[in-house]
Amino acid sequence: MPTRAERKIDERLIRELRNKGVLLDAEGHKLDSPKGAILVTCADCDQFEDIFNHTLEMLRKGGYEERPQPLSQHGGGMLISETCPLDRKYKIDEYLLLNIARARHMKAINTLALLVHYPCGAARLAGIPLFDVIEHNVAAKRRVKSLWPELKVGCFVHVDYLDRKRTYFLSHDAFTEWALEYGEEFRTQAHAPDNSCEPEGLIIFPSFSTVPP
Ligand SMILES: [Zn+2]
Repeated sequence: MPTRAERKIDERLIRELRNKGVLLDAEGHKLDSPKGAILVTCADCDQFEDIFNHTLEMLRKGGYEERPQPLSQHGGGMLISETCPLDRKYKIDEYLLLNIARARHMKAINTLALLVHYPCGAARLAGIPLFDVIEHNVAAKRRVKSLWPELKVGCFVHVDYLDRKRTYFLSHDAFTEWALEYGEEFRTQAHAPDNSCEPEGLIIFPSFSTVPP
C-alpha cells in the first residue's frame, strides 16, 4: 500500500488528469463492443469484482452482449507496453498478445479493454510510479493497434479512493498531448524493484519462438 504522502502525490496526478479531460467518466464512453469485450486487467482480488462488474455494466448499458473475457495478470494492461519492466523477462507481453489473439478467435470478440489501477501492488513491487503505469497503458494501446488496426481498443484506469472506487476512461490522445505539455511536472522517481517475495532459481521460460511444435 502507498504511504499517505505517496497517496497525496498520486491523487494530485489523478485530479490533474480529471481536470484536463484525460480521465473521463467511463459511462460517457461506452465500449463499442457488440459481442462483449476482452478485459486485460490486474488480478487484484480486492479490486477485481468492482472492475469486472463495471465492465459488465458498461456492456449492459451499451446494449451489447454481456461477455467480458478477462485476462488477468498482476499489473493488467500496462504489461503489453514494450517498455514496461514488470515481468518482461517472462515475456508476459507476448503471452498476453497471444491470448488476445486466441480470445478473438475463440469468442469472436473484436473489442479490447486495457485496464490499469491505483494503487497496484504489482506496480509498487516493480517500482513503477503511477505516471508510468498510465503511460504504459497508453503505449499498450498503440502496440495492439499496430498489430490489429481493426480491433477496437479502450484504455481505463480504476482508482480505489478508500471511501469509493471509480473506473475512468483514459483518453489516449488527451494523455499524449497533456504529457507533452505538463508531464514532466508530474513524473515521479521510479523506486528500486522489490523481488524479495520471488522464489530463487525460478525457471525463465524459453522464448515462444524456440518452443518445439
Ligand atoms: Zn494491481
